[in-house]
Amino acid sequence: MNQITEFPRLHTVPMSNHEVPQVIAIDGPAASGKSTVGEAVARRLGFLYFDTGAMYRAVTLAAIGRKINLGDETAVTALAESVHIDIVPPTVEDGRQYTVLVDQVDVTWGLRSAEVDANVSTVSAYPGVRAALSRQQRRVAKTGRVVMMGRDIGTVVFPEAPLKVYLNASAEVRARRRAQELAERGQSVDLASVLAAMIERDAIDSNRETAPLRIASGAVIVETDGLAIDEVVERIVALAHERFQ
Ligand code: C5P
Repeated sequence: MNQITEFPRLHTVPMSNHEVPQVIAIDGPAASGKSTVGEAVARRLGFLYFDTGAMYRAVTLAAIGRKINLGDETAVTALAESVHIDIVPPTVEDGRQYTVLVDQVDVTWGLRSAEVDANVSTVSAYPGVRAALSRQQRRVAKTGRVVMMGRDIGTVVFPEAPLKVYLNASAEVRARRRAQELAERGQSVDLASVLAAMIERDAIDSNRETAPLRIASGAVIVETDGLAIDEVVERIVALAHERFQ
């Protein structure tokens, strides 16, 4: 799988208006299957695989680690503008899809902690944080064809993407998936609290002023309840064959 991504720091080159981004945008709420589906689609098509949620998580974890008050928008935004995040192919074979380095330190599993889950939506609601990370996402897409997962990829970051997908599933199915992931990593889980935390995060993501989670205009909506991953992947791959020459 071609998933090397190195974020250059923030001297970005704006994309010219007439250039169509070579992006498959996959948005949707937490645990809707974006990362599993996105990774498989990217592998099948030979596209770069890029999970933008990891960036918001990385900024959140870095802010917690530096004891920055997460309510201090100016400080958190300054951090998002200066922190160096690299997403590279897995450096350890422990089930990870990629390795995330924050200022050269491997934080891959730390990004998945309950503390990050509980705080990432606060951080990602700040417009300055979004601006800094969206710039980096646009820059990544300049390096080649990419499957990009997130909440605002089809609506804000790449509204011109040739293929936009909105993956959805019921809250119960999503909570069960998330609980299973956590259990597989040896974390003790209580389904009711996983569900409650997920619903809260979705509500903040959907109701924030800047780049809320929405179905992008022209997006293909895929309800994944009762669908096997393979069926979802096949559907997206078929659409990609039509839309990317
Ligand atoms: O996809 P994941 O659950 O890892 O995303 C973590 C959080 O990052 C989301 O709940 C959301 O607050 C934020 N996010 C975002 N925009 C994106 C990707 C993630 O606001 N494009």
